[in-house]
Amino acid sequence: MDQDLTVIRAGHLLDVEAGEMLEDRAVIVRGERIEAVVPFGDGVPSAATTIDLSGHTVLPGLIDCHAHLIGEPESGHGYAVLVTRTAAQEAFSGVRNARATITAGFTTVRDVGTFRALVDCALRDAIEAGDVEGPRMLCAGAYVTCSGGGGDVTGLAPDVDAVVPIDLRFGVANSVDEVRRRVRAILHGGADFIKVIATGAVLTEGTVPGAPEFSEAEIRAAVEEASLYGTFVAAHAHGAEGIKRAVRAGVRSIEHGSLMDDEAIEMMAAAGTYLVADVYFGDWIEEEGTRAGWSKDVLRKNRETTDAQRQGFAKAVKAGVKLAYGTDSGGYPHAWVGKQFAYQVRHGQTPLEAIQTATTNAADLLGWADRVGAVKPGLFADLIAVPGDPTQDVALLESVPFVMKGGRVVKQT
Ligand SMILES: [Zn+2]
Repeated sequence: MDQDLTVIRAGHLLDVEAGEMLEDRAVIVRGERIEAVVPFGDGVPSAATTIDLSGHTVLPGLIDCHAHLIGEPESGHGYAVLVTRTAAQEAFSGVRNARATITAGFTTVRDVGTFRALVDCALRDAIEAGDVEGPRMLCAGAYVTCSGGGGDVTGLAPDVDAVVPIDLRFGVANSVDEVRRRVRAILHGGADFIKVIATGAVLTEGTVPGAPEFSEAEIRAAVEEASLYGTFVAAHAHGAEGIKRAVRAGVRSIEHGSLMDDEAIEMMAAAGTYLVADVYFGDWIEEEGTRAGWSKDVLRKNRETTDAQRQGFAKAVKAGVKLAYGTDSGGYPHAWVGKQFAYQVRHGQTPLEAIQTATTNAADLLGWADRVGAVKPGLFADLIAVPGDPTQDVALLESVPFVMKGGRVVKQT
């Protein structure tokens, strides 16, 4: 008996790369990684641990490419409220959010920003050390944003505004040179990639989603600096002009993309720029915001972007734009991170295509295709299982009873 070996019997195994459902397979896990995938009973070694998922469909652990694990869910009254919270409080919210995320079946996230700079990197490191339960994280560290822009703390009285601590404004930059400087500081601080706020935002008071907030030269400076460190830029961009500037500047992904026009879609398809569109979140803002009495401004901006984003998403599917699953979870409770699959299917994708956005495509976007995103030899044994066929009913991914990360069972109910 091999003590280091775990055998998982998968009644059905979704090969996300080939788009095929395989029947009765054994996934052989050695330590943290997958060693082999073979037909069950085909010379399967006797292992210290065997896990019987013969009544389930096994697929790769899911990946959210637009998560915010740090801090509390959206309050709907702007980000001035952030000055009432310490960095430590934000971090411990992150501990809770990380657990909720992995429990929901998401074993990897690209964390696209925190106002309290670099708290995400600390959470990533604590998870990696085994001190905190959570997904693998690729972290943005902070928001590169203009003063008063979508990633700044807005809405404060001027005298308070003047004394906001540096770690709430770590990425604020107002020229090409300042962008270079802040990008370097963020990467030196431990971030894995750079998040640029290229247009206004729905949730940031006083900003306009359609309005560009950086010049093309400023975004290009971020891309150039990031590439010197071997990494990439993700650009928050709602408006078409901001999207086009970001695509021309060479960013790796457009986040939200709510107000893109046909030309922007063509440019993204031609350049191979990923679209990461949070097509569920708008419904949560509408429901929760109306219930809880959020600012009218936020609700108006949400209504102006939600349907437009979904129509644009459907067009992007048709145009062959690269798509990756990204939810803005953290805006809403992390346990619901799987709800977006059904929305993507409603807006032009097959269930398999939607699953691929959160597995193969997501791994490619992160540059982690050699680590995660498929069930095959050499990759981390990050697996989930659901009782049924998610390529028929993608809503099965909203409630995942079995989660394994790196060969360790995180959840089995
Ligand atoms: Zn976001």
